[in-house]
Amino acid sequence: MAFFLTCGTHTFQSLLKGYENVTVQCQNCGNFSGKVTKRWQWFTVCFVPLIPFSLKPDHDVSCHICHFTQDIKFRPDVQQQMDGGAAPIPLQNQAAPGSNTGWGGQPPPVQGAPPVYK
Ligand SMILES: [Zn+2]
Repeated sequence: MAFFLTCGTHTFQSLLKGYENVTVQCQNCGNFSGKVTKRWQWFTVCFVPLIPFSLKPDHDVSCHICHFTQDIKFRPDVQQQMDGGAAPIPLQNQAAPGSNTGWGGQPPPVQGAPPVYK
């Protein structure tokens, strides 16, 4: 008699509360279409989320045009907006073209204490 436990992960994603109206530049396609989202990955057994991978959700910039997702810790400009609220958006794109940083694959989830955001 065998039990097949279907283990996997489930990622909850939603707009970060209070930042629904914040739109930032996507560093992948260059459009101002990035939204600040929170992403929380859970370990699932039989599709039931049981254990969170981290104590708090990750904050990401998510683009609805090219479906690019970037951890907000790589976006100091966005963090500035989140801290100050009314920081002006930088004029020109700072994304270096040609420097493909390999965002195609998801990095493995960080085990242990996640970095603390303000
Ligand atoms: Zn994009």
